[in-house]
Amino acid sequence: MGLLSLGTPLPWLESRQYNEHVRDNGVQQLLYSFKAAYGRKNDIFYWGDELEFIMFKFQNHDGEGQNAVLTLESDDVLTSLNNEDISICEANDVLFHPEYGRYMIEATPASPYEGLNTEYVENNMQIRRKLVEQRLAGRGCRLAAMAVFPRMGCEDFSDIKNVWDHHNNASKSLYLPDEVTNRHARFPTLTANIRTRRGEKVNIQVPMYKDKFTPYRDDSVYKRDWFEPEDSESVLAAKPGYIYMDAMGFGMGCCCLQITLQAPDISKARYVYDSLANIATIMLAATAASPFFKGWLADQDVRWNVISSAVDDRTPYERGVAPLLPQSNNGHGSSIKANPQRIPKSRYSVVDLFLGGNEFFDRSFNDTDVPLNEKVLETLQSNDIFELDYDLARHFSHLFIRDPLVIFQERINQDNLTSTDHFENIQSTNWQSLRFKPPNQKATPDQKDAPGWRVEFRTMELQMTEFENAAYSCFIHIITECLLTFSHEINPYMPMSKIWENMEIAHRRDAVLEQQFHWKDDLHGGRTSLSNMDHVFHNVKSGLFPQFIDRLLKYKSMVTESWRELVKSKDSSNVRLFYYLKLISDRATGNLPTAAKFLRQYVLSHPDYSQDSRVTKEINYDTLKVADRITHLDDSNGELTKFFGGEIANYIKSCTK
Ligand code: ADP
Ligand code: MG
Ligand code: MG
Ligand code: MG
Ligand code: MG
Ligand code: MG
Repeated sequence: MGLLSLGTPLPWLESRQYNEHVRDNGVQQLLYSFKAAYGRKNDIFYWGDELEFIMFKFQNHDGEGQNAVLTLESDDVLTSLNNEDISICEANDVLFHPEYGRYMIEATPASPYEGLNTEYVENNMQIRRKLVEQRLAGRGCRLAAMAVFPRMGCEDFSDIKNVWDHHNNASKSLYLPDEVTNRHARFPTLTANIRTRRGEKVNIQVPMYKDKFTPYRDDSVYKRDWFEPEDSESVLAAKPGYIYMDAMGFGMGCCCLQITLQAPDISKARYVYDSLANIATIMLAATAASPFFKGWLADQDVRWNVISSAVDDRTPYERGVAPLLPQSNNGHGSSIKANPQRIPKSRYSVVDLFLGGNEFFDRSFNDTDVPLNEKVLETLQSNDIFELDYDLARHFSHLFIRDPLVIFQERINQDNLTSTDHFENIQSTNWQSLRFKPPNQKATPDQKDAPGWRVEFRTMELQMTEFENAAYSCFIHIITECLLTFSHEINPYMPMSKIWENMEIAHRRDAVLEQQFHWKDDLHGGRTSLSNMDHVFHNVKSGLFPQFIDRLLKYKSMVTESWRELVKSKDSSNVRLFYYLKLISDRATGNLPTAAKFLRQYVLSHPDYSQDSRVTKEINYDTLKVADRITHLDDSNGELTKFFGGEIANYIKSCTK
């Protein structure tokens, strides 16, 4: 999320008259960007990560037990970090960004990294956390590095008093007050516009973990009489055996780890995007860290489909279902579109199409049902500014089936030669597992200050420690460098339909241990087999370690055979890399637990747990305490050792002395 546009965001029924205007001009802006930047060559392999954190506090009530609650009153910390503290941030090479949740803070390096320096990356991440922690300490708040806050949406989950003495008009949720949402007008408008376009509240269903005394259905669903018809929807929407959630905040309030990588030119960027498509589904399962939602243990380990449903603005017609209530108006799609399309997927989802443009690509790999905006497809291929080839045009014309969700009154008319707001309006609300980030109109071949062609890797779940977040970031960096280096040897393609299936499989509880994923037999042909995670990571012919990690490390003369040699390196940054890779390898074999498994086990074995899948306030408090100790590398209760195993825990502890 870059700078937020200032101005007046239009409510849906007023903004939709400009939808086609935004698309038409967005296409022009994209074409001018292509015209400027198409010829860029040899851009540096810059890269960077994004971490999202949760601001919260521990509460100890006399005689009433303990709880941990989100703080919805500490967002001024972000304002300070971007204003009076900006020089401290610059000096430390860190930058803070707003996120959907008022309790959230996103943090990135201020300038992208160049090369792989594990210590720099991890240290930079640590400084980001510490700077926020220092500012929160004075008010009794803390920062959690957790993908999901266990009791968000339950009784007493925030520090706002009398939170239900007024109505929550943006989300109309039974559970989340509008105060969970960032104060900037863009965010409540986004929330309301998605709901209005859809014609119903969003409807999020997560399978509930089934234990001995788990109730038949989510018993927090109730009938209220604030909003008609929304308050009548929930009872109809909630399904037995599922955790029911009804607001954007449940999804966009989760925390992820994203990596952006710059390719030397557009053709390599397309190749990297296509190559990472399947790896992104694998890495969602490998980084699983979300075993609970809204006070219930879930029968899945990841956040992805929660966000997907949380921002699903499709009308019932587009989804191909009947509205929940007969009196519903079937949503408020674009008034201009005469013939609405059926749309199989939410705008937050796994990638839809390979971009192609290289020797290995064959159009038959794009074998899924992907609706296109035919007008955009036509314009992108035939215009006076810059003509895109069919495969690239197809990618963008799919993104342009979506409506812009928030339009600022003051930004309706733009100069397409210099602005990209309209393009970004569509692009940045197509939240997919990867994002192909084109440069802007400034990025001519000689203007190296302007970013070039980038790919963003968006599936990974935020981990509790910088050690892990840096490990996964560096892992993706090495894989991408390998792809860039061996782009004429590695054929990454398999049918897109199998990647979609992998995304479903990645959601299942303990997918790392229990599930099989579509994976290529070798990196030459198109044959795939169902493979367990150990095979995906370690098999000699196509595994991530032998074929990507070892291949690159050997090429760079960092090892002769295997990454395991790094442990003996004289360079402490490489020794750290060894432990990063060991963590990832041991999680793939099941020798070490994912964060999801570890946290689930913690809840299941908590003395206050009653075999009913409920995460009580006591359990929530203690879970946040454990996570807090792990984040701070505090092994006083042996949790660090349990989580990382003795060898890695000892290494981590030896470095903090
Ligand atoms: P968004 O939220 O749109 O994904 P952010 O600005 O939050 O964007 O994060 C972008 C990430 O990309 C940061 O880690 C940043 O350091 C990194 N980055 C910035 N410029 C480049 C570049 N030219 N190439 C690769 N990565 C970059
Ligand atoms: Mg960001
Ligand atoms: Mg963002
Ligand atoms: Mg973010
Ligand atoms: Mg991002
Ligand atoms: Mg206790």
